[in-house]
Amino acid sequence: MPQLDDVLARIDAGLEQERDELLGLAHRIHAHPEVRFEEVQASAWLTEALEARAFTVERGVGGLPTAFRARLEGRGSGPTVAVLCEYDALPGLGHACGHNVIATMGAGAGFALAPLMGELAGTLLVIGTPAEEGGGGKVTLLEAGVFDGVDAAIMIHPYKSSHPSMGTLAATRWDVSFRGVPAHAAMAPHLGRNALDAVRLAFAGIDALRQQVRDDVRMHAIVTDGGAAANIIPETASMNAIARARDGAYLFDDLAPRLENVFRGAALMTGTEVDLTASAAPYLEIVDNAPLEAAFTRHATRRGRSVTPYDMADGTGSTDMGNVSQAIPGLHGMLDIDDAALPHTAAFEVAAGSPRGDATVIDGAAVLAGIAAELFLDPDLMAQAKAAFAEATGR
Ligand SMILES: [Zn+2]
Ligand SMILES: [Zn+2]
Repeated sequence: MPQLDDVLARIDAGLEQERDELLGLAHRIHAHPEVRFEEVQASAWLTEALEARAFTVERGVGGLPTAFRARLEGRGSGPTVAVLCEYDALPGLGHACGHNVIATMGAGAGFALAPLMGELAGTLLVIGTPAEEGGGGKVTLLEAGVFDGVDAAIMIHPYKSSHPSMGTLAATRWDVSFRGVPAHAAMAPHLGRNALDAVRLAFAGIDALRQQVRDDVRMHAIVTDGGAAANIIPETASMNAIARARDGAYLFDDLAPRLENVFRGAALMTGTEVDLTASAAPYLEIVDNAPLEAAFTRHATRRGRSVTPYDMADGTGSTDMGNVSQAIPGLHGMLDIDDAALPHTAAFEVAAGSPRGDATVIDGAAVLAGIAAELFLDPDLMAQAKAAFAEATGR
């Protein structure tokens, strides 16, 4: 087997050769944002590019039309390493989470490793995971067995600074609809049962609950139906609510039942009926994996990035990568594309298509390819990642 230093030099050189094509792909996805489950073009462009580099591509895996799994076998047996691509945009904000950068960092790792796999022991997968923004694509793919046989799953998210991990919260959501009795709001209000009042009281109940929960909890909601006209007592009204906490145990066992009682209480108070639909794909918190994170820091530092530990006080989010990391050893590193802009803002959307975003596509591809190469070359690293996973999860 080749030496790691030699492999890394060839990864860097390969990415220089692929630079124009890879950045063209990043800009094309950035300019054509597609929201969750509608990433038809992004999925087609990524799979065509991987096929052109000798990957065997399965499209529509896990029953998700815009998902894919691209496979390249190495020389002899070794670990199966999956590099994950996200490529969905945000409604109204375009690629304000920078998933065009994620997609092309992942594909770029595939581009860089394709000419090398004949010398490496193991299997490289590039898995296209749709609908990270609220659709839980990875949860569906996990349940469908798309990750079966994967020894490690790695990805990088763009951010305002570079870190080997992301502080995450487990998250779940509810669609809540109330049904009351409509009535003329002036002529016969006493005959009505006001569904919008139930929504208002549910919001008030959430705010009261907020005082008696742990500091790490986040609860937020929007009204999705607030009635038809002010002179009709609303027969129906609905809301969408999200709750998050540092760990799924607290979120699902403690917080969720109390929040559901808020919705039921609002119905009871207003004489309406409530219909609660909890998310079928809640997001779990990320299981940290120190050996994979150390590999990230090595390779990102090698590419000139300044890597610091993630500061939980800096803010936390949720990702369906958490679910993957609960099932197999996983890495969710972060590389900077801006000094200040945060995901889900217009400024971050600009950064995701900027020269600095481009540099991060290339560096991120090199980092992911470097970690994968190390896993193929060094059975000890793979064993350490598995041991860290076993210790954290008891599996
Ligand atoms: Zn996002
Ligand atoms: Zn994101």
